[in-house]
Order: sequence, then structure tokens, then C-alpha cells
Amino acid sequence: MERTRCITCGSYIEVGRGATEFACPDCGKTIGRCSRCRSQGVTYRCECGFLGP
Ligand SMILES: [Zn+2]
Ligand SMILES: [Zn+2]
Repeated sequence: MERTRCITCGSYIEVGRGATEFACPDCGKTIGRCSRCRSQGVTYRCECGFLGP
């Protein structure tokens, strides 16, 4: 089973505990965000170059 890492801080996320994962609107790659980075509103960047809020 594959685990998703937060794209900002690199820690493993657990979906349903404030963390989220979704497909990059640009390239479709799975992007994970942990609860901490979400609450801080940290900007993320996909490896395709997409920049998200
Ligand atoms: Zn994070
Ligand atoms: Zn992307």
C-alpha cells in the first residue's frame, strides 16, 4: 500500500485527520498536504511547476 507524503514538509499524511490528498489540476499527480501545512496556508508546488494556495 502506497502512502502519500505532504508535498510541503515531506511527512507522511493520514487522510481524514485534517490532512488531504488530491490530484494536481495540471498533471494529475497525487498531491498530499498535512494538517499542519494546511492550517498554515503554506504554498505548495507540484513537480510539474503548478503552484497552489
Ligand atoms: Zn506538511
Ligand atoms: Zn502537477
